[in-house]
Amino acid sequence: MRAPRRFSSVLSVVALTAAGLAGATPALADTPPAKQAVARGFGGAVVSDTVESTRAGLAVLRRGGTAADAAVAVAATLGVTDPYVAGIGGGGYFVFYDARRHRVFTIDGRETTPAAGDERMFTDAAGNPLAFPTAVTSGLGVGVPGNLATWQRALDRWGRFSLADNLRPAIDVADRGFVVDATFREQTRQNQTRFAQFSSTRELFLPGGALPEVGSVLRNPDLADTYREIARHGTRALYGGAIGRDTVTAQRDLPLAPDATLVPIPGRMTLADLRAYRTIDRDPTHVAYRGLDVYGMAPSSSGGITVGESLNIMERFDLGRLDRVSALHRYLEATRLAFADRNRYIGDPAFVDVPQRALLSDRFARQRACLINPAQALTSPVAPGDPNGSAACTPASSGAAAGNEGAHTNHFVVSDRWGNVVSYTNTIEQLGGSGIVVPGRGFLLNNELTDFNFAPTQGTAPDPNLPAAGKRPRSSMSPTIVLRHGQPFLAVGSPGGATIITTVVQILFNRVDLGMSLPEAIAAPRASQRNAATTQVEPAFLALPTTPGLQALGHAFAIRDTSSLDPTIRISPDIGVASGLEFLRGGEVLAAGEPTRRGGSSAGVVFPR
Ligand code: GLU
Repeated sequence: MRAPRRFSSVLSVVALTAAGLAGATPALADTPPAKQAVARGFGGAVVSDTVESTRAGLAVLRRGGTAADAAVAVAATLGVTDPYVAGIGGGGYFVFYDARRHRVFTIDGRETTPAAGDERMFTDAAGNPLAFPTAVTSGLGVGVPGNLATWQRALDRWGRFSLADNLRPAIDVADRGFVVDATFREQTRQNQTRFAQFSSTRELFLPGGALPEVGSVLRNPDLADTYREIARHGTRALYGGAIGRDTVTAQRDLPLAPDATLVPIPGRMTLADLRAYRTIDRDPTHVAYRGLDVYGMAPSSSGGITVGESLNIMERFDLGRLDRVSALHRYLEATRLAFADRNRYIGDPAFVDVPQRALLSDRFARQRACLINPAQALTSPVAPGDPNGSAACTPASSGAAAGNEGAHTNHFVVSDRWGNVVSYTNTIEQLGGSGIVVPGRGFLLNNELTDFNFAPTQGTAPDPNLPAAGKRPRSSMSPTIVLRHGQPFLAVGSPGGATIITTVVQILFNRVDLGMSLPEAIAAPRASQRNAATTQVEPAFLALPTTPGLQALGHAFAIRDTSSLDPTIRISPDIGVASGLEFLRGGEVLAAGEPTRRGGSSAGVVFPR
């Protein structure tokens, strides 16, 4: 394993004032401008989490890159500036509208379980499920990463430039560093205890044992070198080469700090697992919703089917004509029902016979929609429906709840001058992933395998999401592209674990049924009903004038528990961090992200209006 370079190359935190920056290091005077949540213009657009990643994408678009080229530049740069939710240590789902072929395609770049994994891997000797935090900060939760392979696959299919070309902006940002903001510091703080367990992670993100100061510059020359190595040798540097060897070592012989208190469980990934990793080209899911064509991600993600089923149920009602309370009631009931079906039927299709067609059929939507009582909320957990049954109204008995899922990843969108569109959600699962930085390589490893259910959740019925060798854990990621009359209309997505699905549905509902603009649809307060007794809401949702009416129908609302073992840590009650594009007349694009959630998004266009 490479030793981290101690002086010049360990990510250095240099507390510099603006004046100091300007005088001493001209390259660093380039402090990013304030984030802009909305942009409008022509020639292509990017909305991502950080200013640097959006700029990287716009630079590639300006040089003549396609949306796929720019997406790789954005994703690689997020690996530097948003390293707790992105990077080559993770996986994700890439949805692409190909303007030449007028079709939507997808790439499944989900992490896989090593060949040595099995159904009991997340249980102890007595057969009891491991405690979730134990599994999260461990080698065991690390799946074989898929992001780098996804980038190469996207470029092979739709790129004009090489991987090396598209990594260049990220290498530059990793070398020069980026300015720490309050969000980055807070996210580091939430991870401080577990990051301190690993010497490599501590050196990278807690330099000198402390949190990086707001306004200081973080550099990651190890990651710059890693990207350079990939630029030289291609993706095999990770999938079988030297970076892969270091990855295997890191998850097996954990780089524990001398004073570590954790006894983490080693992982089972081998170099052969990395060599065997393949992305999968999949057909997108498709539903028609009020004359629009909504395309999403098929399993291994549950996103496309669950968003699609929810919309199919909602389409049974004329939501635009109902009063707001009645419309919101149907939105909440639709996702409640769709989640019961998700939990029962969806898993990796290489292992589970997912009844995708039936789940997305109008017949099934009728069966489910007729359970919605206009005057009374259903009692969760509701039972799953029978996708192969009749459209008859089957009364809901009780069902089972969902398993574990984290709450943090990133979603970004890109379009180009030719009209191609990317909607890409990628992740290392938990904020900070497994907490393990590969020593000397500058990136965190995922804990994606903790998206499996550790023990059966479906009573006497089979659980589609138990671990197995080579299996992909069920995801909720829902990168979505919507066409109108065969042309791109919207691209949206969000992080947020299982709340991703409801966030995407709610944004589409806000935009299409309630007539909000895309920025309004994204900014609006969120509510997430996932077949639970209470609906998770943001504090601002409670203050809406519609909320008492919903409560009168029997909806119970709860804000996420924001308490933490460490009283100085504030867990955010926000749901999701969405980004989207809307394609207007005459080639104009409206790029919109979050005004405030998780520090806000960065939207930009090639030629502002
Ligand atoms: N691991 C999650 C999923 O695949 C995504 C990460 C998150 O946002 O929680 O659904």
